[in-house]
Amino acid sequence: MSDSVLYDLPGEFVSSMAESTGYCDAQAVLPSEDHYIAFCTCGNWHTTVPTRDEGLALARAHTAETEGK
Ligand SMILES: [Zn+2]
Repeated sequence: MSDSVLYDLPGEFVSSMAESTGYCDAQAVLPSEDHYIAFCTCGNWHTTVPTRDEGLALARAHTAETEGK
């Protein structure tokens, strides 16, 4: 039930995400209250993490996983 986290993101950024190509072109880790939100432009991956470093590590793991297919 983590889909709702996207509504906490800046509207402009969300609209740019909606126009994304569906590819893993970029990943971002944004602060949100007491945690961080990590997500990818492919629109198929996002998660919440306690630290920015962890979000970046998971983002790298996500792209490595998708590039390997
Ligand atoms: Zn992706």
